[in-house]
Amino acid sequence: MSKHNELIKKSKKHLWLPFTQMKDYDKDPLIIESGTGVRVTDTEGKSYYDGFSSVWLNVHGHRKKELDEAIQEQLMKISHSTLLGMTNQPATELAERLSRITPDGMDRIFYSDSGAEAVEIALKMAYQYWKNIGVEGKNKFITMKNGYHGDTIGAVSVGAVEIFHRIFEPLMFDSFHVPFPYVYRHPSGDSEICKEECLLELKKTLEKHHNEIAALTMESMMQGAGGMVLMPPGFLSGVKALCVEYDVLLIIDEVATGFGRTGKMFACEHEEVVPDIMTVGKGITGGYLPIAATISTERIYEAFYDDYKNMKTLFHGHSYTGNQLGCAVALANLDLFEKENVVENVQTKANIVQSELESFYQLDHVGDIRQIGFMVGIELVLNKQTKEPFPFEERIGYEVSLKMRELGMLTRPVGDTLVFMPPLSSSQQELREMISIMREAIQIVTKIKGSHVTSLRENRCSRG
Ligand code: PLP
Repeated sequence: MSKHNELIKKSKKHLWLPFTQMKDYDKDPLIIESGTGVRVTDTEGKSYYDGFSSVWLNVHGHRKKELDEAIQEQLMKISHSTLLGMTNQPATELAERLSRITPDGMDRIFYSDSGAEAVEIALKMAYQYWKNIGVEGKNKFITMKNGYHGDTIGAVSVGAVEIFHRIFEPLMFDSFHVPFPYVYRHPSGDSEICKEECLLELKKTLEKHHNEIAALTMESMMQGAGGMVLMPPGFLSGVKALCVEYDVLLIIDEVATGFGRTGKMFACEHEEVVPDIMTVGKGITGGYLPIAATISTERIYEAFYDDYKNMKTLFHGHSYTGNQLGCAVALANLDLFEKENVVENVQTKANIVQSELESFYQLDHVGDIRQIGFMVGIELVLNKQTKEPFPFEERIGYEVSLKMRELGMLTRPVGDTLVFMPPLSSSQQELREMISIMREAIQIVTKIKGSHVTSLRENRCSRG
């Protein structure tokens, strides 16, 4: 048996993959062996564009010399020592660097290992903040419909993606859900009307319940896993203003959008919004190692700073928090951001992506294209006039993504919305090639699926 076949056999026998129906995996297994630049290669030697940055992480491409070297250098000193009650060199330096690049006043860095943990910590911080300053009753959170903040129970409790979260409802704590401005699906189709309506709903919830609410959690500028939905201009700043008015903390989740992804270092900069607490992860290490952080203002931090006997300590921490290898590569990542003008380049290249994608509107089943920087969602619909979606069982997003894989690019859809989030280092040529693969896959699959649904319906009518 070849090494490849042996690995496939082992993977089918022993692995249980995240967010994966293993029956799908058994049909279409894939094992990645290596990667360079914006491409990864499987165990059969087939190479693919990493069209989703290995789940929204990768910044400078794979095997980036400077990042590889930063890990090797750190490895020669120490790989890990704890952050409980002490610190280490790269974690300390990274904290100072993060406080410099995050919005003004975001100066306190609490490390963890994943975006979901960063969110858990943010929730605990916000909840305990009010207790520590002697305000009782502010025990709940507001979240946006279709918001996604990770998969731990706290993060799920402030998430609202029906398909992922419904089953866990009995385990979740209650949160207030407010509408998110999904302009394409709003009856008016008008971004201003949609935005105002959502802000009004939020205002009503705050007016009635602000005394019970510790914080509002939301993604920054674009909802990711909930459908790649871009918020209209003025929404984020409108939410911030309402949080200030009603004395509710604002937690902005930049796990997906941070580190240049949207054409700013952090997406909240698009509206000059400074949150009380911000969560970051994914791109923080350039996509190399699992580091995340919850970043707060001094106002939050000071509420926890006291004599131990007063019991204001934040009792939370993970074994690998502040891991030296991760922090060392994160520092090298930030050096590269400066040296290679990554954020400015994303802005320029995003314009190219936008103009290349413009022609997709001519395709029969492309309903909406939503883009901010290098974060793109393409919503496929059965009928462009009525915006009727494809039937759920057709799995249109999944099927198109499988076709892209066959044609040489990896990505994962969110429902019927295709996701295009290439590494920020992708060249113009590489971006054009990736977009061309997407176009071809959409054309082939939607044509087959579109006629399949039509003929099913005709058969049903003629029988009926
Ligand atoms: N928050 C947002 C906005 C995300 O998009 C994600 C993951 O996609 C998370 C949190 C969870 O991050 P992680 O998968 O690192 O736990």
